[in-house]
Amino acid sequence: MPLEFAYQPSPQRIVFGSGKLDQVAAEAERLGITRAMVLSTPGKTSLAEDVAGHLGDRCAAILPTARMHTPVEVTDEAMTTVEAERIDGLVAIGGGSTTGLGKAIAYRTDLPQLVLPTTYSGSELTDILGQTEDGEKTTIRDARVLPETVIYDVGLTLSLPVAVSVTSAMNAMAHAVEGLYAPNSNPILALMAEEGIRALGVAIPGIVRAGADEAARGQALYGAWLCGTVLGGTSMALHHKLCHVLGGSFGLPHAETHTVILPHAAAYNAATAPDAMAAVARALGADDAPTALFDLAKNAGAPMALRDIGMPEDGLDRAAEIATANPYPNPRPLARDAIRKLLDDAWHGRLPA
Ligand code: NAD
Repeated sequence: MPLEFAYQPSPQRIVFGSGKLDQVAAEAERLGITRAMVLSTPGKTSLAEDVAGHLGDRCAAILPTARMHTPVEVTDEAMTTVEAERIDGLVAIGGGSTTGLGKAIAYRTDLPQLVLPTTYSGSELTDILGQTEDGEKTTIRDARVLPETVIYDVGLTLSLPVAVSVTSAMNAMAHAVEGLYAPNSNPILALMAEEGIRALGVAIPGIVRAGADEAARGQALYGAWLCGTVLGGTSMALHHKLCHVLGGSFGLPHAETHTVILPHAAAYNAATAPDAMAAVARALGADDAPTALFDLAKNAGAPMALRDIGMPEDGLDRAAEIATANPYPNPRPLARDAIRKLLDDAWHGRLPA
């Protein structure tokens, strides 16, 4: 295929390394933040307090109310604190759920965002806001939503439980796999995708061996940054659509769902995206990409079947319907029966076919 692309790199500032939390006040100052609101999930209040301590006088409020899938009522509630405390910047510490709350507030206010990610979801690198209202999850793409600064501190990820780390890393890898066959990809993002998969492929077994291994954690966070950048720069296809449906309409957990679906979605597209699959296989040092993705997750002890993460078997027909109701670009055309079979394989935890 002739080389042809348009590319607009993200304007974000990225700070990466160990002990980088120490730079949070300087980075907030750089963004002109004088009255920050620190965000976290309810279970991670101590992390939020730690960040607040580093911010000193620049911290005006701590709000540990972030929840999975960014419910609109949580954002509504947060807006009262934003107004009452005259907040002029958001500092989010946590995974995609916490980042989501910051993005939802920024969507309404255009306040600057500084994110300290503690998982590998990659949300901090996109201008995508997914939020739920009345049980329905919708997605918005808007420049206000993209965080201005991301501080990756490897030390913050050492406490991420091994099981969560494995599925979160597979979630990151999924961004790169779909980015490799995205119609709006380009050579830079393809390099990032392949390197991101390589780094995560090394990191996952390393973290399983020793969860606090700084070298493995560093590779995982580096891989997550690369894969998240690919997510932010390309459009996603069948895999992300299926996960969106399973999470949004059936309440399945985000990272686990990505882990189960990825080998099957890769297999579905394998014959029509041979170059992408060759890159995935190369990055994982394997011959067959879908099998390598399956083995990587299985050997790390991840859940491998939709039935084990809360999917009712009688919901598979409806999931196939919703996932094929509106057309979207995918290497292989979307065929309802083939996708129903994919979901059946994923529900049983069979090898991808
Ligand atoms: P999450 O933020 O819910 O975190 C998963 C779990 O890990 C939580 O229980 C959290 O408290 C815990 N945790 C996080 N960091 C920890 C640490 N360092 N130590 C111990 N425990 C820790 O999950 P996630 O997978 O990061 O994010 C999922 C959410 O992000 C979903 O709502 C998804 O839709 C969204 N997302 C959005 C985008 C986007 O571009 N908009 C991209 C990816 C994910």
